[in-house]
Parts: sequence; structure tokens; C-alpha cells
Amino acid sequence: MILCRFTHDLRLDDHAALAAAAERGPVLPVLVLDESLLASLRRSPLRAGFFAGAAAALDASLRERGSALVIRRGEAAASLLDLARSSGASGVVWSARYDGAGSRADLQLRASLEEAGLGAHCVDDAPAIAPGAIERDGKGYRAFAPYFDRWRETPVPSYDVPLLLQFAHHPNVESEPLPSPEELGATGVAADSTPLVAAERLQAFLANGVRAYASARRDPSEDGTSRLSAHLSWGTLSLRTAVRGAREALDNPFLLNEERRSVRSFLRSLAMRDFFFALAYFNPETDRAPLQERMRDFAFTAEHPLLGAWCSGRTGFPLVDAGMRQLAATGWMHPYVRAVSASFLCFDLGVDWHVGRDVWDTMSIEDDAAVATGNWQWIAGVGADLVQYPRIYNPLRGQRRVDPDGTYARAWVHELRHRPLGPSENLAPMLPLYDGNPYPSPAVDHAAAARTFLERYRAHLLTKSASVQGSEAPGG
Ligand SMILES: Cc1cc2nc3c(=O)[nH]c(=O)nc-3n(C[C@H](O)[C@H](O)[C@H](O)COP(=O)(O)OP(=O)(O)OC[C@H]3O[C@@H](n4cnc5c(N)ncnc54)[C@H](O)[C@@H]3O)c2cc1C
Repeated sequence: MILCRFTHDLRLDDHAALAAAAERGPVLPVLVLDESLLASLRRSPLRAGFFAGAAAALDASLRERGSALVIRRGEAAASLLDLARSSGASGVVWSARYDGAGSRADLQLRASLEEAGLGAHCVDDAPAIAPGAIERDGKGYRAFAPYFDRWRETPVPSYDVPLLLQFAHHPNVESEPLPSPEELGATGVAADSTPLVAAERLQAFLANGVRAYASARRDPSEDGTSRLSAHLSWGTLSLRTAVRGAREALDNPFLLNEERRSVRSFLRSLAMRDFFFALAYFNPETDRAPLQERMRDFAFTAEHPLLGAWCSGRTGFPLVDAGMRQLAATGWMHPYVRAVSASFLCFDLGVDWHVGRDVWDTMSIEDDAAVATGNWQWIAGVGADLVQYPRIYNPLRGQRRVDPDGTYARAWVHELRHRPLGPSENLAPMLPLYDGNPYPSPAVDHAAAARTFLERYRAHLLTKSASVQGSEAPGG
């Protein structure tokens, strides 16, 4: 018998750990609510609700197959060792994490299990293509474009429910109760956090939405991106399944050129998830420090008088504010708006990317430290793909570009509901007019803030290159 420990892989289909466990004997499915999992769930009530629904759905699927989830609360290694002892299991199989804290926890668990003479099998399940499969001389890629060139050509493995899969029954093993929403600080249980909903959403998207994905990424009011991120994060959908489906969609000979570009763009998005896993895997220090060594001592600030306004969606920039309110209300924010909102925090306010990442972590359903960190560093200009200068999004120009009639802004910023924001209107001069209602005027002068930031950035780079030249000078 072998324990299969479920973590961020709350499904039975296309499951690498379950397939690896099935090869080793009858499988006892386990979910350990350890401190780090509970802390993440308690930080974000919507995340907790999603998780509670997904855990219950997994248990229900197991019961249909004559098994059930064995729940334990407590430290992971101690709980698993105890369970292995009482059931006579020979070891544990589980899915790897790639962020610094997660991979350190995996290492510790492996050491504890092996010390006790048990098998410890930590497998790659979250990525479609494991980090180690795409490398150069043992190192990972630090830029996305060459990584994507290799990723596109690399086959994706498949782990269908193995024929040999047999679930174990053991009289000495009783389960603790499933996590309740109250225990996790959730306001309710999400009804849509099941593998069935995820599979239906993927199918519907591949049948239709994916062909217009490129425009959906530029239109936050349309809600036309896949909305699969929470399912991919908690593993109610396997990224491999999504990638295989998108690759098949690309093979459709009847696609128009524009539609083909959209499907490719969707594949590129899925590949970014793998890219950030790989970046964290090859650069474990990046959960705390920027990937770019020369940016490690750049003085972002941790505090700003407008930080509270950013968090609560009251900066006076409708796109930024709508995004933050969408995230608070739903646990998800449109991808383009994420970039604008994160850029505003890092560049207009000069606030450290860690702060933004951690604020979003308290609202988001996704629980992907490696992906969140990679994206935040990327936006802040301290991570992968650094061009000479970071891209600073203009939140007003962005608003005119992706939400010209204000449909998205008005959907989330209720103070703007009755304001006419027509396509021909220039939003910037209108904004002070909001003074008459509770919605604030823009909190900063974007152009001046961006200029100041770029000057500081340039000065920092000059100091760095001077110190490199100094140390390279003869006798220096
Ligand atoms: C500052 C910042 C922080 C982010 N934090 C997260 C995070 O914590 N977790 C997360 O899953 N995504 C994160 N993203 C990436 C992206 O915005 C979301 O994945 C996307 O908004 C999810 O919506 P969707 O499922 O409709 O995505 P779609 O556009 O339909 O894309 C499909 C899937 O591809 C993956 N994907 C798309 N873009 C990215 C990307 N840039 N990086 C990695 N994977 C991507 C996601 O799994 C997504 O579900 C972040 C982006 C920014 C700019």
C-alpha cells in the first residue's frame, strides 16, 4: 500500500502522483491540512471557499470509486509518518511545489520519510512540461522567448487514470472531518470549484472562446479569457490537459489567420505558467530576492501614503481601481488590468513588488507563489526578460485603449455607474469632475511619477555599471 498525498492537485484525472502511486500498490488518498496550507487558506476567504468545495468534490469522486479522502490536521511529515505506520504503507507519493518555501518543505518531507525507512516520491504534476525537461547546460532560461521556442516543440506527457489503480481499504485508518468553510475562514463553499466545472469550462473555451482570445486579453469588460487560473492553481484541472486541448485546437485546418493567432497566444499564456515554475525551480532565491542581481539593492519603498488607496481601489484611476475591486469581490482580476495595476504600484507609487504580491495574496483564489512572484518581478522590471527599461503602463491611456466606453470601470467602481464615459471622451480631463461625487481625483500625476521613477532607475543602473567597470579595471 502507498499513500498519495493530495495538495494542489485536487482531481483524479491526468494526475502524475496518482499514476506514480498506482504503480506501487493499492493507494490510500490523503489530504493533510498543515500549517502552511491553512495559513494560505485563512489569508483569503474566497480561496478558502474554493478549496473547501474542491476538497469535498475530490472526496465525493473517491467515494464513487469505493474509497474516500483520509484527512489529517497537523505537521505534514508527522501526520504522514503516523498514517504510514498505522496503515502499513510503504511510502508517500506527492506533487512537487516550485516556490522557495514549497520546495524546501518538499525536501524536508523527503528527508523525514526516508529517515523513517519509507519511500518518498515527489513528482512533477503542476507543470505541463517539467522544469528539468527544458534547460541549457543544467541551467534554466531567464528569458521567456527562447524558453517558449523549446516548450512549443516539447511533448506533454499524459497520466490518464491508470488501469492498475486500486484504492486501499484499511480498518485502522479513520479520517478526520473534511475542512469546513468556518474552519478555513471562508464565507461559503464555492460551487464551481470542481473538476467537472473545470473540464466543462475548458471544453467550452476551446470550442469557442479561444479563437477570440487575443482580443479578450485586451478587453476586460468582455470576460472572454479562459478564467481557468484558479482551477489550474488548485489542480482541479491539469495544465497538461489544457495544453493538449489547445495544441489540438491549433491543428484545426479551418481556423482563420486571426483565430490561429489567438490559439497561439493562449498556448503562450499556458507556457508562461510553466516558465515561472521553471524560473523558481532554477532560481530558488527569487521568492525573496529579484532575479536580476543588479536590481537587488534598488530602493523600492515598502510604505506609501497611497498604498491604502491602491488596496481599496480608490486611487482615482478607474482601471486600477476597478481591477482591485474585481479582485476583492471575485478573487480574480483580468490579466491586462493586473499588469496596469501592478505597474501603478511599483512605478507610480514606487512600492516594492513584494508588497503588491502579498496584498493580492490576501484576495486571490489562486495560490501560486512561484507564478505570482515571477509575474510581479517581471512587471517591476527586476525579474525575467528585463529589457533596458521596465514597461510603465499609463493607467489613463490603458483605460482608453481597453475600456474606451468605461463598461469595465463602471461594473466595478459603483461611484462611476452613472457617469457617461463615451468612446470619444478623453478620460483624463474628466477626472477632476468626479470631485462632485465620492470618487477621488487621480491620486498622482502619472507622467511626473513615471519620469521620476525612470530617472532613479537610470541612476541606479549607471551606479551599477560604474561599479562593475571599477572592479574590472586593472588593480581595481
Ligand atoms: C502582477 C501579476 C501577478 C500575477 N499573479 C498570478 C498568480 O498568482 N497566479 C496565476 O495563475 N496567474 C497570475 N498572473 C498571470 C495572469 O494574469 C493570470 O494567470 C490570468 O489573469 C488568469 O486569468 P485566466 O485564467 O482567464 O487566464 P488566460 O488569459 O485565459 O490564460 C490561461 C492560463 O494561462 C496561465 N497564464 C496566463 N498568463 C500567465 C502569466 N502571465 N503567468 C503565468 N501563467 C499565466 C494561467 O494559468 C491562466 O489561467 C499574474 C499576472 C500579473 C501581471
